[in-house]
Amino acid sequence: MEQLAKKTVRDIEIEGKRLLCRVDFNVPLDKKSGIISDDKRIRGALPTIRYILDKGGKLILMSHLGRPKGVGYQEEFSLKPVAERLEELLGRPILFAQDVIGEDAKRKAKELATGQVLLLENLRFHKEEEANDPGFARELASMAEIYVNDAFGTAHRAHASTWGVANFLPAVSGFLIEKEIAVMGKALANPERPFTAILGGAKVSDKISVIENLLNKVDNLLIGGAMAYTFLKAKGKEVGISLVEDDKLALAKELLEKAEKKNVAFYLPEDHLVAKEFSADAEAIVSEEIGAGFMGMDIGPKTQETYSELIASSGTVVWNGPMGVFEFPSFAKGTESIAKALAEADTISIVGGGDSAAAVESFGLTEKITHVSTGGGASLEFLEGKSLPGIDNLEDQVKKKLLAGNWKMNLGSPKAGRKLLEALLVLEHEFVHDVLIAPPFTALADLLKLTGNSKIKVAAQNCHFAEKGAYTGEVSPQFLAAMGVYHVILGHSERRKFFAETDELIRQKIEAARSFGLRPIVCIGESLEEREAGETFAKVEKQVAAALNNLPEKDLPFIILAYEPIWAIGTGKTATPEQAEEVCAFIRTLCEKYAGKEVAGRMKILYGGSVQPVNAKELFAQKNIDGALVGGASLDSEAFMAIAKA
Ligand code: ADP
Ligand code: MG
Repeated sequence: MEQLAKKTVRDIEIEGKRLLCRVDFNVPLDKKSGIISDDKRIRGALPTIRYILDKGGKLILMSHLGRPKGVGYQEEFSLKPVAERLEELLGRPILFAQDVIGEDAKRKAKELATGQVLLLENLRFHKEEEANDPGFARELASMAEIYVNDAFGTAHRAHASTWGVANFLPAVSGFLIEKEIAVMGKALANPERPFTAILGGAKVSDKISVIENLLNKVDNLLIGGAMAYTFLKAKGKEVGISLVEDDKLALAKELLEKAEKKNVAFYLPEDHLVAKEFSADAEAIVSEEIGAGFMGMDIGPKTQETYSELIASSGTVVWNGPMGVFEFPSFAKGTESIAKALAEADTISIVGGGDSAAAVESFGLTEKITHVSTGGGASLEFLEGKSLPGIDNLEDQVKKKLLAGNWKMNLGSPKAGRKLLEALLVLEHEFVHDVLIAPPFTALADLLKLTGNSKIKVAAQNCHFAEKGAYTGEVSPQFLAAMGVYHVILGHSERRKFFAETDELIRQKIEAARSFGLRPIVCIGESLEEREAGETFAKVEKQVAAALNNLPEKDLPFIILAYEPIWAIGTGKTATPEQAEEVCAFIRTLCEKYAGKEVAGRMKILYGGSVQPVNAKELFAQKNIDGALVGGASLDSEAFMAIAKA
């Protein structure tokens, strides 16, 4: 699982540093009095807060609260009451900023002393937050030296504070996110068996992706809630007036067949609590059949027993979705029995989903469950097997190899690009490396949409050095960052050759790209004549110096260098792994010179130039080669996949 190994606050030097920490302080407020009715989320963030303060950090906290719609300050959405409650819980004064990236916030952030805490105003007073605006993210990042994400509840959203800031600062997780990925990640990737999933809730349609993902992993799948009636009807059973999604009957059949093929034991309720109407005081009748005029409201006693026994004999249980209309006390027993079985069982038990977590809490059983996820939507996306942007963008514990496919001036029609990308997406679960593709500008928007929350990232092949203006035919890094582009290739030898790009111009582009959080892949390399004249190192040294010398320290870890000997580009000639490693090792020493040893170790150095399936493995095995920039072979999905698996 990709998201297992992210750096945490334990992995960084904190003393004397400013840390900008995204927390989830989106607490329920009483409408009239403005009093916080449940401070669980504030308490949840305390371990990370205390740790940072104990280690001598200066802490800046940021969060959203409610839905103020990005139209500026509104008192009812102010985080001021949260600052007051946090002060009580933490037992020390909390500084509060009147704005988010304004003068007050910036001044207070700057004046912070060791051990002090500053809470910024509601992030969502700015529309740029949810729009994931790179300029807004940069302003937030400018107040600190390290970014910490501890807001699991918003980790499935790519917002400025959850994703964007990590493009500007070293980014690590807090303890809440660490626990979520450790427990849920492990359960999905490497579960104690038998592995059982229990799914319920109102609609099959909400949970299709969860079911599909879990069918690849679990031994038992137990269904409850209204969702069960769609499956029962698909099997030809009478379901009366139960909540059924008729347009999902075919899909339900398909899922049942899939389960059989994958040897997953698929359980549906054998009895029910039925009622004549959907109401709290409807009479609850136990029945194995659902007669005409009746609707299923909860799982019956036999089903409760079967499910409880299965839970007790499982190694891992993941539960999402109530078994019945638990909001009505007469139809809460099914849900309660599952919660109790989980609490009593000697298994790893995980509960995800907003309503499910609320149900467990209302039965007072939260403490008895191994892990109740703090994020409703986020935990669902996790169970769907998606990568969560707010976690994905944190630094990996162990540096991963990067495979970049440069399509050059090919496949520029959205349709052609889509075909190749779709072929890659089918195979994405086999990737062992980070993978990105760089299509022509014309295909970017389409391919970005298609990659969505997948592991494949989309890069640009070039950008201009200015933010905007009279530069006909050019594309600003700001446009690219705003559309969600992640990397930009700069100074490719073809651009140096055909468009006369100089080291100086490329340096300007690097700075421009960084000012919007893009990660430049800077290409360097010598020509055949230069190699034969013994000038390889001198050439590479000059190019690296132009790229890195005096670059702001905070930007250095985001620079990727790609060594592409010009004589090996598109010629079919490759540098031998030894030749490639020799130069990449030299580049590493140059990185150490400009960035220091620690940062240089985190920087990625790629090799490019006729990388093929046959030589990829050996190239990747070299100590100083952190991946490959692939040209021609990236246009063929099979060849590219073979390299990706090397
Ligand atoms: P979660 O938030 O845990 O993911 P869902 O939002 O999917 O859970 O589902 C919760 C809702 O499903 C509850 O409001 C509950 O009343 C409803 N529900 C469960 N069983 C039934 C049923 N038999 N008929 C109608 N609604 C149901
Ligand atoms: Mg819900």
